[in-house]
Amino acid sequence: ILARGRDVCRRNGLLILSVLSVTVGCLLGFFLRTRHLSPQEISYFQFPGELLMRMLKMLILPLVVSSLMSGLASLDAKTSSRLGILTVAYYLWTTFIAVIVGIVMVSVIHPGSAAQKETTDHSGKPIMSSADPLLDLIRNMFPANLVEATFKQYRTKTTPVVKSPKVAPEEAPPRRILIYGVQEENGSRVQNFALDLTPPPEVVYKSEPGTSDGMNVLGIVIFSATMGIMLGRMGDSGAPLVSFCQCLNESVMKIVAVAVWYFPFGIVFLIAGKILEMDNPTTVGKKLGLYAATVVCGLVVHGLFILPLLYFFITKKNPVVFIRGILQALLIALATSSSSATLPITFKCLLENNHIDRRIARFVLPVGATINMDGTALYEAVAAIFIAQVNNYELDFGQIITISITATAASIGAAGIPQAGLVTMVIVLTSVGLPTDDITLIIAVDWALDRFRTMINVLGDALAAGIMAHVCRKDFAQDTGTEKLPPCET
Ligand code: ASP
Repeated sequence: ILARGRDVCRRNGLLILSVLSVTVGCLLGFFLRTRHLSPQEISYFQFPGELLMRMLKMLILPLVVSSLMSGLASLDAKTSSRLGILTVAYYLWTTFIAVIVGIVMVSVIHPGSAAQKETTDHSGKPIMSSADPLLDLIRNMFPANLVEATFKQYRTKTTPVVKSPKVAPEEAPPRRILIYGVQEENGSRVQNFALDLTPPPEVVYKSEPGTSDGMNVLGIVIFSATMGIMLGRMGDSGAPLVSFCQCLNESVMKIVAVAVWYFPFGIVFLIAGKILEMDNPTTVGKKLGLYAATVVCGLVVHGLFILPLLYFFITKKNPVVFIRGILQALLIALATSSSSATLPITFKCLLENNHIDRRIARFVLPVGATINMDGTALYEAVAAIFIAQVNNYELDFGQIITISITATAASIGAAGIPQAGLVTMVIVLTSVGLPTDDITLIIAVDWALDRFRTMINVLGDALAAGIMAHVCRKDFAQDTGTEKLPPCET
């Protein structure tokens, strides 16, 4: 038994360490909350976790560029277009199913009737129109400057503009009228009244294209995929660059293999640090507990039943074994709330534990981390209907359909970074005329829900790679792919 135990530990050492670190992080976080650390102390405490995030983010750019360029360049035109169409169709389909699951859950549980609308500071004015995030999505697909795209993405900025009313001089009312009145009352003699007749300034909201910090992964994915396809068509003349990308990809994976040993340590501080920062859980529990439970139930149904069943029916393989292989990636998703940052680990798990063809993983994963977010889509649909319920707003069938379409679009537009879904939810809310300011209602629990939905986003991408590997197995058996090029020495 001892020998078997040792063997299990040796083979799953990293996974066991990661599970332990999540547990220790939670316990440490809740324990330190009782010590009332100052914000400065909390920020020092979070430093090892910050390092983990930095390492992961550092790897995203070389990984996405090298995997897409080398992956697509090594496929022939027929195989790459078949894989591309099947992958995107599968992503859209499963995202739509996730939205339907969310809508059913929120309609059955009806969390909105339990909540009071007291936390919102609702001015009644939409902050942004739904067109803006959609335009941002398209802008991000075509970055004007590739270097800038590595650290900035397009995000429309909305600023209030105060306009003085235009009044012709002859019609202009006196700015101020002073009315003097004399009043004898309890010995006080004179009272002056001032009446301000200046019309109140008009406040309008102006939206203009702007940028915000964070990598424009979508733009980089589109560029790298296009380059990869073109390199593939160039044949021998494109081979040096393809070979370079293969080497880059393999060396990044070697860095990942070393860096993963730091991750369990970083996870402890990442999770404990977040627990130290969060609002008082008891106040949050009363108002939003049912809403959060609805989102989590939906995520569980989609992630633990629907997606695995789909995997089982298509591949006839055991989904539990597959999910066990990517557990470490799911834990990193839980700790970082970022599917892009988890990408290097998802790659590692799929290649090493689930033995997915690397040419498939190189295409399916980066595209999935950018456009396939089942968890986010489900959450956006639940959140929008929850806000409608809180406002006693009856949604008709047409509006429910609108929510399902816009939640799918909004999840595609969300970047794989923490709480990106909260931003793109403006699209869903404005599409059915719900107040965008009411996003403030759900902010308190969003940091926690973000972690769970990111896990489902990563799970969806990984299962998609497993399904594509099965569906396209014949194409890949025929296609000699990377073997056309000299093997990369690393
Ligand atoms: N954090 C999520 C992700 O990275 C996106 C979101 O829903 O906010 O996948």
